[in-house]
Amino acid sequence: MNGKVYLVGAGPGDPELLTLKALRLLRSADAVLHDDLVSPQILALVPRSAQLHDVGKRAGQKSTRQESVHFLMIELARQGLNVVRLKGGDPLVFGRAGEEMQALRDAGVEFEIVPGVTAAFTAAAAAGIPLTLRQTASSLLIMTGQSAEDRPLPDLRPIVKSGTTIALYMPGSNAKETLSRLAAAGVPLGTPLAIVSRASTPFQTMTVTTLAKLASLSAYAKPAILILGEVVRRSTLDPADVRVLRDELLRERNAISAGRSLEEAPLA
Ligand code: SAH
Repeated sequence: MNGKVYLVGAGPGDPELLTLKALRLLRSADAVLHDDLVSPQILALVPRSAQLHDVGKRAGQKSTRQESVHFLMIELARQGLNVVRLKGGDPLVFGRAGEEMQALRDAGVEFEIVPGVTAAFTAAAAAGIPLTLRQTASSLLIMTGQSAEDRPLPDLRPIVKSGTTIALYMPGSNAKETLSRLAAAGVPLGTPLAIVSRASTPFQTMTVTTLAKLASLSAYAKPAILILGEVVRRSTLDPADVRVLRDELLRERNAISAGRSLEEAPLA
């Protein structure tokens, strides 16, 4: 009889952010296929008796081809094993789960999806940023800075203007590149943003700034996510914890707590 494949979200790194279900499945897995982003502390929860396969993009000298991942997953399930396909964050957010589900369906292998805490939620929690806020941000856009063909970002002007919060995954390899991509996409230079690197790990760093100031930042550690939008002004970051925090940001935050509306408090 075929085994089953579980497409499981490992969350952003901190083992305490695993779901109980993910933990149970990891502990009873016969084989685990994991990505690079899954932390060593989480992999340590896999029993020694289980097969552990690193199928991450940075594993070995070249990327593991997506087809090889499908092949391995299906083969192991056909051997009757319980297979956990473990992905960083949530499996359905930039996790290639769509392709893997299709391959499993085509092969007639049973599967189940277990959600995980995605990077946007982790970063927002770390920086104390409400992703939605009544009267300020009524929507949240999850988008990638890198499309498959590395095309430029779409026009973000109307999105930023509408007050939508943007969570930008895979923002680019450094601050200067990210700045030029966002500026080219029409994001106004005064837009507040937070960069959170390695969220929920002991190496977490956070920076609150504006797009205009991004060029003066040194490179940030990967993985990193950007949160853009008015809500960033509400960050509860302690200024001592941030590398760049404009005086204006503090002034505006004080003005906001004194009762002024956000719209009256431009940053740039
Ligand atoms: N499925 C994952 C996303 C995979 S794409 C999820 O739901 O979170 C990889 C991108 O996710 C990275 O380039 C980065 O933008 C973001 N990311 C993943 N883990 C992160 C972390 N611990 N801190 C900051 N960003 C992270």
